[in-house]
Amino acid sequence: MSLNIGVFAVQGDVEENLASTRAALDELGIKGTVSTVKTPDQISKLDGIILPGGESTTIGQLSLVNGSLKKIKEKIEAGMPAMGICAGLILLAKEVKDHTVGKTEQPLLDLLDVKVERNSFGRQRDSFEADISMESIKIPKFKGVFIRAPSILEVGKNVEVISKLNEKTIAVKQKNILATVFHPELTHDVSMHKYFINMIK
Ligand code: GLN
Repeated sequence: MSLNIGVFAVQGDVEENLASTRAALDELGIKGTVSTVKTPDQISKLDGIILPGGESTTIGQLSLVNGSLKKIKEKIEAGMPAMGICAGLILLAKEVKDHTVGKTEQPLLDLLDVKVERNSFGRQRDSFEADISMESIKIPKFKGVFIRAPSILEVGKNVEVISKLNEKTIAVKQKNILATVFHPELTHDVSMHKYFINMIK
């Protein structure tokens, strides 16, 4: 069996996720293809999808126009594993507000039962790295790279909190959805991508 994994490539951290996912497959010794996807047709053939970081408003609006947002939603509802990173997490959420401007009118997948605050740690110049821990998924030590990161303010009862930093929730899992406010593709450690591949397998 060979896994077909897609990185949603409308905007954002696409190349880094392709590289990390390929490296993770190698380390696990699992066969698979990792490619960029944009269209509903490409998405319909996937076993798993990564929604990368970038600008959630842009990604949401562009994917609404070509119908890929709807297809992603259908596939995740049907059980396809998805990993949302930063803007990708925002896109997955049911409720989003911005730290400064409040309510945002942006297209959402409305799947992950969390309330998210965009730009929760400040603006671009407030980007930072921190050592974090994800004991429940057996990644005790990981370097979290936070770039205009959101945080998760509230989680629904079916959402497992995987990691917190200074009282803010930064990684969660809900059934087939894994989501982080930090960027696992910007470190050399591919443990998070490996964990996601195992969710697909
Ligand atoms: N602040 C961005 C947004 O709200 C997310 C930043 C990121 O993905 N690194 O979409």
